[in-house]
Amino acid sequence: MSASGWIGVDLDGTLARVDYGKVYDGSIGEPIQDMVDFVRLLNPRLVEFRVFTARVASPLQRWEGYDFPCEAYAIRYQRMLIEAWCLEHIGCVLPVTATKDHQCVAIIDDRAISAPHNFERLPVRAVNLIQGRLVGAGWAMDRVSDLLGGQWGYPLGGEE
Ligand SMILES: [Mg+2]
Repeated sequence: MSASGWIGVDLDGTLARVDYGKVYDGSIGEPIQDMVDFVRLLNPRLVEFRVFTARVASPLQRWEGYDFPCEAYAIRYQRMLIEAWCLEHIGCVLPVTATKDHQCVAIIDDRAISAPHNFERLPVRAVNLIQGRLVGAGWAMDRVSDLLGGQWGYPLGGEE
């Protein structure tokens, strides 16, 4: 059996630093060197990496200083920025996609929460991470705890 497939690596917060407290202007942050080195070492020697980012899927956004005439133009502009960033920091242009397919063997992403294959019950660690993300994004702690901890019976905040 010959190996095939690709690994998706997220851009914002995974390959590049991002400050969610700042106004989003569409620019790409400084590289996260360890992640960049990892991709640089393995792509394409071991496996193909693709930048896996919502930037090329987003509905039309208005960024500080830019006024795009249409969504396709905004996405093309983002693709160009990402490709230039890849060339500068990784040394090659990686494919850029917002789409997963059956050849995707892994996704490295600062926002994703891992779940075991064909699991029967979502691990407590995953539920705790979801709880933390929701509360961090502004959901009320008591509502999140009631629904996740109460209804689902998970010992929130506890050990796995
Ligand atoms: Mg991210």
